[in-house]
Amino acid sequence: MNETKENTVSENEAPSNFIRDMIKDDLETGKFGGKVITRFPPEPNGYLHIGHAKAICIDFGMAEEFGGVCHLRFDDTNPSKEDDEYVQSIQNDIKWLGFDWGDKIYYASDYFDQMYEYAEQLIKMGKAYVCELSAEECRQTRGTLTEPGKNSPYRDRSVEENLDLFRRMKNGEFEDGSMVLRAKIDMASPNMNMRDPVMYRIQHKSHHHTGDKWCIYPMYDWAHGLEDSIEGVTNSLCTLEFEDHRPLYDWFLDQLGVFHPQQTEFARLNINNIVLSKRKLIQLVKENYVNGWDDPRMPTISGLRRRGYTPASIRNFVATVGVSKVNSTVDYALLEHCLREDLNKNALRRMVVINPVKLVIDNYPEDQVEYFNAENNPEDANAGTRTIPFSRELYIEQEDFMENPPKGYFRLTPGNEVRLKHAYYVKCTGCDKDENGNVICVHCTYDPESKGGWSNDGRKVKGTMHWVSAKHAVDAEVRLYDRLFTVANPDDAEEGKTFLDYLNPESLTVCHGAKAEPSCADMEPYTNLQFLRMGYFNVDPDSKPGKPVFNKSVGLKDSFKITK
Ligand code: ATP
Ligand code: MG
Repeated sequence: MNETKENTVSENEAPSNFIRDMIKDDLETGKFGGKVITRFPPEPNGYLHIGHAKAICIDFGMAEEFGGVCHLRFDDTNPSKEDDEYVQSIQNDIKWLGFDWGDKIYYASDYFDQMYEYAEQLIKMGKAYVCELSAEECRQTRGTLTEPGKNSPYRDRSVEENLDLFRRMKNGEFEDGSMVLRAKIDMASPNMNMRDPVMYRIQHKSHHHTGDKWCIYPMYDWAHGLEDSIEGVTNSLCTLEFEDHRPLYDWFLDQLGVFHPQQTEFARLNINNIVLSKRKLIQLVKENYVNGWDDPRMPTISGLRRRGYTPASIRNFVATVGVSKVNSTVDYALLEHCLREDLNKNALRRMVVINPVKLVIDNYPEDQVEYFNAENNPEDANAGTRTIPFSRELYIEQEDFMENPPKGYFRLTPGNEVRLKHAYYVKCTGCDKDENGNVICVHCTYDPESKGGWSNDGRKVKGTMHWVSAKHAVDAEVRLYDRLFTVANPDDAEEGKTFLDYLNPESLTVCHGAKAEPSCADMEPYTNLQFLRMGYFNVDPDSKPGKPVFNKSVGLKDSFKITK
């Protein structure tokens, strides 16, 4: 976690980091003519997750900070896994996070013609060749980190033959896997990426954007630098695993003599207790281990949103983690801490009883109803107030009554007095039980002099409880969540197991019988709330008129300490 310490920030100050410093230098030296153009290049083969949020904040954030622009570019060079549903969701998620690409939205597939021209150019320069080794033979002749690879027997084909074969590849004359176009670099290079990498492969597949126009598709390393160059991107910011690919990125651009963006790498975001690989996230969704991409247990942006995360909490999280060149794993509790900080300031306070039991105030007039005013948020004077009805029969949490309590229990227990928040002091007189000994109703008396929850004679009570008037209560469903995985690193499965073996069977608990105060009846989906004493919650889009559904976002208590 040393990343966190070094880079802890408040919202207003931008601490230095190596990317910011580099861009400042470039602006001073005029390297890119004073321009800053970045890009966020998602492959539309899944929903965005919290790791992407880091890249988004850096790519869009740097452009914003230096008066530049950030392009949204769909890196759709692989037809097999891409889908328009993902294209839409990615745009929604970036907008929701608060970033804007203006009219700079691009598809890598729009450059297929241009890329093809560039490939012919390399062939004509004698820098690329059509290779008919099988994938397996390619692998076998690639060498290892300590041994050089072997030249392909097809490496010295003439330019004419290469051009002819490549054109026929494009025209669909050959089967998938029968040949590839490779760059002719150096099979003995210490950098494996430079050992005649594949530029094009044959795939007879429809593409979500170009349809059946192409049956050859470019590989990432060949395509990415060209995409950046064509768009005039100045700073191509990416994650550390591309560091070893930079020489190849540079080689292609240098050979072609085209505009040459600067690639710079930063550490990926890793968080414990979750998985961030798209392949695994897709599996969780497709095999119904969760209820869709926006399941509140998912680390996707849409899952976090549905859980109650706010754009500000996610952006603050990314800022707190900071930008570094060293990979590390961040504690999930830091993410929750950032949410809690935001919600404490902004969430409306409400009273909701999640597991109810009746509380009858035996000395309260049967038909009387009183209305108490309560502030919506003590942290925010502008949040206003609401009225809460109070009557003879209330609901309280089952756990707030105990007939034979342990020492130090300050809630309702025979003979004990507590405060009902915003209302009165009540003293417990006993309870009714069913034939199995379960408590079905708790009895108490109230002190009419303690109106508003304060006593005139200065006597103190140790417990304050939330409650809901029974006849005014709104029936609600409350969904409680626990970690999706039971171990800190589900990616690191023991032999014979997969990450799925570490799924937490108790990650979702649905409470069907919750009782909410009336002001909760028809709230906008995604509204953030604090249920008194119970935690932070939000309104789920599954809510129906008069029948709200709430998700627990995070508990009230912080388990994370930031060292500043
Ligand atoms: P996969 O894990 O399936 O290979 P990906 O996570 O790289 O895919 P892309 O759609 O290619 O998915 O990602 C778009 C951008 O987001 C890339 O620039 C990538 O570096 C960045 N990114 C992805 N995951 C993370 C992460 N965990 N932390 C920071 N940036 C990330
Ligand atoms: Mg990728």
